[in-house]
Amino acid sequence: MIPFLNLKDINAKLRDELLEACARVIDSGWYIAGNELRAFEQEYAAYCGSRHCIGVANGLDALTLTLRAWMELGRLREGDEVIVPANTYIATLLAITENGLVPVLVEPDDRSLNLSPRSVTAALGKRTRAILPVHLYGRLADMPELLEISNRHGLLVLEDAAQGHGASLGGRKAGNWGDAAGFSFYPGKNLGALGDAGAITTSDDELAETLQALRNYGSHVKYRNLYQGLNSRLDEIQAAMLRVKLKHLDEQTAQRRQIAHRYLNEIDNAAIRLPTWEREEEHVWHLFVVRCQQRARFQQLLDKAGVQTMIHYPIAPHKQKAYPEYNHIELPITESIHEEVLSLPMDPSMTPEQVDRVIEAANQARV
Ligand SMILES: *Cc1c(COP(=O)(O)O)cnc(C)c1O
Repeated sequence: MIPFLNLKDINAKLRDELLEACARVIDSGWYIAGNELRAFEQEYAAYCGSRHCIGVANGLDALTLTLRAWMELGRLREGDEVIVPANTYIATLLAITENGLVPVLVEPDDRSLNLSPRSVTAALGKRTRAILPVHLYGRLADMPELLEISNRHGLLVLEDAAQGHGASLGGRKAGNWGDAAGFSFYPGKNLGALGDAGAITTSDDELAETLQALRNYGSHVKYRNLYQGLNSRLDEIQAAMLRVKLKHLDEQTAQRRQIAHRYLNEIDNAAIRLPTWEREEEHVWHLFVVRCQQRARFQQLLDKAGVQTMIHYPIAPHKQKAYPEYNHIELPITESIHEEVLSLPMDPSMTPEQVDRVIEAANQARV
């Protein structure tokens, strides 16, 4: 079976470097908020081109705490509206509702599957205060257009960059477009720790300072609590793992692009729609997602041919039981996306022969 993502092989290639970093942390005797975190934060901020990086426990917290910080700073109030693409992963929505903010779910662009500037303009209302574009599947959202709208209407922009590490446009990377960005370093993400981790990037000094307190019980100075904060810290061992993985990120992104380009050039099956892209640099291919109206059958045929696939995601957030208040909303583009998408193996450790086999299986699947 060709696995959808072979994390074991990806990390095995870096085993010696990872073990050395582990030993460094064990021997330091310092396990929370030390040199590794500080170094990773500097290195990742530099990678993204932003002034600050604030490590937190996971990607959901990165988004939730950023919105919370804007509330503490008086830039958002309970009941304010945040425009978000309806076809995102549920974490994006949870970050909004957790803060007592109101998500305004809009249809994505049918080609890029990202937040559509046209949908944003149509959804603007008196209480709109922020937009939350998601670089879904690794493709940078249409940030130039979205920033033009946000500037015109004085909106905050929070990027959900959990799938977009390193995606860029005109040399400007994901995480350096919005007022802030939330990243996840969940093991399966393009930059993945060996456990949970996340971070916020921003060039706003005041926001960075607030986030540094919020992630640590609301405290800048030990035993002095400015906010009712959380414990959401990125620990030393994961920061050390991430420093190793960051060094290899661009090389792995190049490998993902090679695989994606082979799929795009060589998969030819009238029953499926291939993903689109416009510029090489904008897409880091976190996922290679095709669309097929007979998805179940197509998936079954690939499985028989020894190709593992996944569905990202089978149910739209507004159709989840967790959100009964949104279940009635009709979003046909979003709903068809959730019914049709299928993710092919996308793994920087794949061999050319494995890529051949995926292509062959996809071409031979008659649905
Ligand atoms: C993974 C992901 C998150 C959440 O990250 P965690 O680290 O799992 O909390 C948020 N948004 C998107 C789009 C994601 O893919």
